[in-house]
Amino acid sequence: MTSLLNKEPFIRCDQYNFINFQVKNMVHAHSTVKDPNVLKAVKFGAVDKIAALFPELDDSQKAIFDTITSIEEEVQGKNFLARLKPYVIPFKTITEKNVAKLFPKAKKLKVPSLADIDFQEIVYLGWYDIRSEKKYLIFNFDGRLLGIHGTFRHTTKGVCAICNCHEEVGLFMANVKSGKETYTNRGNYICNDSQKCNQNIRSLEKLNHFVELLKN
Ligand SMILES: [Zn+2]
Repeated sequence: MTSLLNKEPFIRCDQYNFINFQVKNMVHAHSTVKDPNVLKAVKFGAVDKIAALFPELDDSQKAIFDTITSIEEEVQGKNFLARLKPYVIPFKTITEKNVAKLFPKAKKLKVPSLADIDFQEIVYLGWYDIRSEKKYLIFNFDGRLLGIHGTFRHTTKGVCAICNCHEEVGLFMANVKSGKETYTNRGNYICNDSQKCNQNIRSLEKLNHFVELLKN
């Protein structure tokens, strides 16, 4: 029997961002579109896209999404998302020890204040270290923490290789193993602002590709 009190998190952060995006679309359509048939199409289009993310939900999990079709105003959208938030799977716990282990060669690396991070709101952890002029990225890849660091130069507006959005980006270059004892520089353009980047991620497709390219 399925319990109605099943509180197990089952929504990934990128999926939560995707739902947020669809809800915003619905609210925006409600305030700008007059034709009820068009509005209906927008609403059920959004619901279908969200349902497609979760093909195997049990009844108690489905019930969490029940009120989505009644969302019209911004406040309803916000309330809906707030009710969903407890079901978001948090990022793997990171300690300063983990960080030091992930980047053994980085001496005196300044780690962002981990206590201030909402781990339900990150798909990856990224920060720029002024002293070494490098960007440090931590991913949860195949169930384990994976650190990638590289040089980072801010350039201009462009499409980010992690979130796939048009943002202020810079060229991130990592030194990657290319053979048994040989290394090569590989990289791509990614957001300057890793927090903004995280909020933009609505699918893991680009991120996984980025990690595959740059992991050692
Ligand atoms: Zn980005």
